[in-house]
Amino acid sequence: MSATQPAPAARATSRASGIPGVKHVIAVASGKGGVGKSTTACNLALGFAAIGLKAGILDADIYGPSQPKLFGLRGKPRQVGPRMLEPLERFGVKVMSIGFLVEEDLAMIWRGAMVISAITQLLREVEWGDLDILVIDLPPGTGDAQLTMAQQAPLAGAVIVSTPQDIALIDARRGIAMFEKVNIPILGLIENMSAFCCPACQKLTPIFGHGGARQDAERRGIPYLGEIPLDIKIRETSDDGRPVVATEPDGVHARHYIAIARDVWSTITSGAASRPPPRIIIE
Ligand code: ADP
Repeated sequence: MSATQPAPAARATSRASGIPGVKHVIAVASGKGGVGKSTTACNLALGFAAIGLKAGILDADIYGPSQPKLFGLRGKPRQVGPRMLEPLERFGVKVMSIGFLVEEDLAMIWRGAMVISAITQLLREVEWGDLDILVIDLPPGTGDAQLTMAQQAPLAGAVIVSTPQDIALIDARRGIAMFEKVNIPILGLIENMSAFCCPACQKLTPIFGHGGARQDAERRGIPYLGEIPLDIKIRETSDDGRPVVATEPDGVHARHYIAIARDVWSTITSGAASRPPPRIIIE
């Protein structure tokens, strides 16, 4: 192998060289809050573990960290060495969250510079050990925190979560545009809360509409990763620290998340995640 030609393994890990031991890093993002981004990120990380990968999740949702609750985790990460922190672990997934480190209300009032500094620290000072994949749960929207993450994390790509209705998709498009601007591939769009699943009769009702995300993905030429129904079981298990993929791995919802994890994994490892071509914008 010549000096200019990295070995295949080295090539696979080179983009994530910023986080020692971590082979691939992806972001889960949304244009707005409340669309189920954190729930999706949690179940996706568990989906990666379910297909046999060493997975971790970094909860960078500084303004509303949900992963401690979703994973049913409490406590402070152990410090290793002078500055590194050890993630906590549950259901076979390593978890680090700003929520383990500061009071929730405190982070809410941080100014931009403090947010950037906290995010940079989370990226650099966590001892993940060996991971195949790290999922970063980004704050909703396209502000400074998101842009810092998009620029500083060695991202293989971003998964965008949206609900089906136009109002959420408009915001999701802004998120997509942000990643495209910093040259991060879009791994795909997930339609969450796609249709309401009645617990009594299992009938599906499209409360927020249906199919909007698929149409939008097709229109923009980005992969559509599938839909997750609006189901009380997802809400209850998530809010109770028993996410469906971990607690009902053979259930219908877990199957959706695991299929999406498999898809995303195959996209990033096959090198199919392509950087968006430069676009000419006439202003
Ligand atoms: P975000 O991270 O976008 O703010 P969350 O993941 O915190 O959103 O989800 C917001 C609320 O919606 C939570 O109570 C969560 O349990 C619920 N939720 C998320 N996805 C679903 C779903 N597919 N079905 C039912 N409830 C859901």
